[in-house]
Amino acid sequence: MADVPHELSAQIGDGGEDATGDDVPLDPGEPQFDLVEPGRVSRREVQPDTIKRRAMGKMRAVQVAQGGGALELVEREMPEPTQGEVRVRVEACGVCHSDSLTVEGQWPGLSFPRIPGHEIAGIIDAVGTGVVGWSAGQRVGVGWFGGHCGRCEPCRRGWLIDCRNLRIPGISYDGGYADAMVAPADALAAMPDQLSAVDAAPLLCAGVTTFNALRHSGAMPGDVVAVLGIGGLGHLGVQFANKLGFCTVAIARGSDKEALSRNLGAHHFIDSATEDVAARLNRLGGARAVLATVTSAKAMTPVIEGLAVRGRLIVVGVDAEPIEVSPLQLIGASRSIVGHSAGASIDSQDTLGFSALSGVRPMIETMPLSRAPEAYARMMRAEARFRMVLTMAEQH
Ligand SMILES: [Zn+2]
Ligand SMILES: [Zn+2]
Repeated sequence: MADVPHELSAQIGDGGEDATGDDVPLDPGEPQFDLVEPGRVSRREVQPDTIKRRAMGKMRAVQVAQGGGALELVEREMPEPTQGEVRVRVEACGVCHSDSLTVEGQWPGLSFPRIPGHEIAGIIDAVGTGVVGWSAGQRVGVGWFGGHCGRCEPCRRGWLIDCRNLRIPGISYDGGYADAMVAPADALAAMPDQLSAVDAAPLLCAGVTTFNALRHSGAMPGDVVAVLGIGGLGHLGVQFANKLGFCTVAIARGSDKEALSRNLGAHHFIDSATEDVAARLNRLGGARAVLATVTSAKAMTPVIEGLAVRGRLIVVGVDAEPIEVSPLQLIGASRSIVGHSAGASIDSQDTLGFSALSGVRPMIETMPLSRAPEAYARMMRAEARFRMVLTMAEQH
């Protein structure tokens, strides 16, 4: 799911900082974080401690004991998959802003303790009864889509991501801030060998959100497509837009994102702080689609006049404030504004496949699981460039 406003981030981020409890061992000799170049493959050393823990049926997990509480490293019983489920040995788990829904206890009906995490990449290591088509040893990912009911009206129409009883890892059941987690088989996406676990993890939420929105935008190769906001979602959006064959426009506040945007594949850059965004888009012929990843509705309003005839503003950045638009702006050029949620597990699988094929990779910083509170706090302070990823091997 998408990012949420920075004001909120700052507020919750304080809670995240408090979460760095004394019980989590921090090695002062370790660097703050590791910048991982795209394509780098994670090392998968199994530590002696891990082998001992596994033999005793235990695992490490980072959980929240209660809403608004600290993230704490604990030892838990290794979960066993029941009917229709598999157990995934987690190799990497991305840290997403939506994890704050769990940490802060903001999701209605959440039960505690709960292990957050919905950007999970790993290997199936146990299969429950009745699971068809998945087997132990297979590399898989689990994203925001954690299972559907199959009975509600959207499910019956095939709109699985819109399931009224959607299950979400880290919210409906324990997620990926752990050595292992159990997921329903319908939540699984096959992970191609060309993708490392650390690269795959953010693609399972931020990646599928942007890729799926763009491929369903109605834009055709050669059309002008703009990505508003260059951050955790936007830096992937620009890459996908380029690889999908769109004339790609990056829009961000300030010129400091220009070089990065062009490196990621933007053909044009608009500095929204100094330029008239709509006028620039219109000089390019108008945008067939604008993917709005910013967490400010106010920043979305000015792009509407830059939409081409039949152009579409696709909203994936979360804000509670209204987007200002007049009916005239929409009717006169048959424009539309649509919301877009991540995607079902097959969409995640498509995202991983397309990324492997085209070379799209997230820019990430990794930290070992034991430093999850620090990774979470860094993400909440919006300091991550651009996604934090937890690794389960302690040395990485
Ligand atoms: Zn997410
Ligand atoms: Zn349903």
